[in-house]
Amino acid sequence: MARKPIIGITGSQKDVNGIDHSFVHSKYPEAVLRAGGIPIILPIGTDEAAEAWVNMIDGLLLSGGEDVDPQSYGANPHPELGKTILERDETEIALVKAAEKERLPIFAICRGIASLNTALGGTLTQDIHSQLDDGIKHHQDGSRINASHDCEVEEGSRLHRILGDTRVSINSMHHQAIAHVADNLKVVARAPDGVIEAVEGTEADWSVLAVQWHPEEMAVKYENMQRLFDVFVEECTEEEAVQS
Ligand code: MN
Repeated sequence: MARKPIIGITGSQKDVNGIDHSFVHSKYPEAVLRAGGIPIILPIGTDEAAEAWVNMIDGLLLSGGEDVDPQSYGANPHPELGKTILERDETEIALVKAAEKERLPIFAICRGIASLNTALGGTLTQDIHSQLDDGIKHHQDGSRINASHDCEVEEGSRLHRILGDTRVSINSMHHQAIAHVADNLKVVARAPDGVIEAVEGTEADWSVLAVQWHPEEMAVKYENMQRLFDVFVEECTEEEAVQS
């Protein structure tokens, strides 16, 4: 039997009792395990480490977290910019570039979509609530497991095939969004106010899907959200079969 695919999940860093800790929110590895993958946490590292990790793993999951530092896409900070960790950006940019070279499948979530778009040459809106007229609320106060707004999924997109619908209810815990879309990504879902909620890769031999919401939070309650992880892990399995 083929071994289960190893999914590298990007981690963050925070101070706990005066000591820096590397971590990911547990719902990411839990969703990967349910999908049949073997999760490992990738801490903030170096370009060299990023390349080594990409050679070890079968799929890359860019997780949620802090704002992407605007320096990473050549902009100055908006007053409403939140916490950033430049070293995390640098690690994730190196991971995406190594993954692009190796055609390693990527699934990106929330900060992950911002990080992916930045790594591939796109830009971000740093604070949609102050920079977008007539915007809806994208930072819900309700429980993270429940949806708070709709999005329109492009008919015929990969995301549409996975979710099975063009109108999908999603949760929303972000204040940044994609501004300029990177060249090898295309928009496949938007919120009612036009905010980009999902992108896919445009290159046939490289599986890339990114969502602005948090499917890992909804996945135990909503089957379509778990399916995003199931399909991703399945693709990483196929990738493994091709390589061996
Ligand atoms: Mn949203």
